[in-house]
Amino acid sequence: MGVFESMLHEGSHEQVVFCRNDAAGLKAIIAIHDTTLGPALGGCRMWHYETEEEALTDVLRLSRGMTYKAAAAGLNLGGGKAVIIGKRDQKSEELFRVFGRFIESLNGRYITAEDVGTSVHDMEYIFMETKYVTGVAPAHGGSGDPSPVTAFGVYQGMRATAKAAFGSESFKDKRIAIQGLGNVGKNLVRHLHEEGAKLTVTDIDEKRCNRIKEEYGCEVVTPDSIYDVDCDIFSPNALGAVINDDTIGRLKCKVVCGGSNNQLKEDRHGKELGERGILYAPDYVVNAGGLINVYVEMEGYVRDRALRMAGGIYQNTERVINISREQGIPTYEAADRFAEERIEKIGQIKKGFFGGI
Ligand code: NAD
Repeated sequence: MGVFESMLHEGSHEQVVFCRNDAAGLKAIIAIHDTTLGPALGGCRMWHYETEEEALTDVLRLSRGMTYKAAAAGLNLGGGKAVIIGKRDQKSEELFRVFGRFIESLNGRYITAEDVGTSVHDMEYIFMETKYVTGVAPAHGGSGDPSPVTAFGVYQGMRATAKAAFGSESFKDKRIAIQGLGNVGKNLVRHLHEEGAKLTVTDIDEKRCNRIKEEYGCEVVTPDSIYDVDCDIFSPNALGAVINDDTIGRLKCKVVCGGSNNQLKEDRHGKELGERGILYAPDYVVNAGGLINVYVEMEGYVRDRALRMAGGIYQNTERVINISREQGIPTYEAADRFAEERIEKIGQIKKGFFGGI
């Protein structure tokens, strides 16, 4: 498939920029999906792609996902993403600074951030060449670790989903199975424990399990048996694609709600969850706290403001569930409609306004 055809096939992208600098060993692609709501923001992934086509497909899909996440979170941001083709040992100051200059040349249409394979340290090099970068160190006015805000947003989304599934948003005595006790998972455990939830947890890192067990008295199970836990809510906070043909029949919960990206292996698994009577809180709606955090950073970071905005994930989740119920469609599809509707409406206002001048 040609590049222009790929842009159309993966979601009608506005612009794709190929960046090459042999002296720095840089080969990168920046994809700007949609800037109706604002500048395209999305992380920069560094990965050893087998082929250039694979890198292009990845950046096109990820940038489209960012448009939906920002729109559903109510942010004035569009969707973008960048990929640098290379291995970790190819990282250097010159590589990230050259990449920063490419970002600068887009004059704010694309804003980058940390992602898989890149770090705060790499962002600092980019920051030397452009101000269109978020997630730099707090010493430079950055927002630092976004995970507590992400976890707070997931917790709010879970409250709204519990209200819809059980008639009450209280977690008192609800059994919740948490997969993954990393930055998001451990903060989520704290919120749920404070509310009196009964927690069963797992992680492939035994030390993390022991620490959480000691601190909160949670029950610990092996990573594979988390899917079999008899619980009210299953919360994935480790990996993507955990709702798949192998796991879906094992789930005994009534709600799936967690921070992981791309929890559904395929869209049809979202439909199947609904058919099995399990209410799925769409991942990108409930895990938008990290994006909200960097958005606040762009305005001058205030943690309380980030948390207040992440509190709005409750209402966004509630709205998505209502759309799903009103229109008789799966929740993952309702989330897309919710996002598309906002882009459409705000796009109309902008067109009307500028057309009217
Ligand atoms: P993390 O790397 O800090 O934690 C992930 C945890 O999952 C680790 O403790 C790891 O040992 C564990 N894990 C890995 N494989 C596992 C398995 N098979 N079973 C059980 N545990 C396993 O990552 P994080 O920042 O907490 O993010 C968790 C998820 O949320 C990721 O999918 C991430 O993309 C997504 N997310 C994170 C943020 C954020 O702000 N950190 C924002 C949006 C989405």
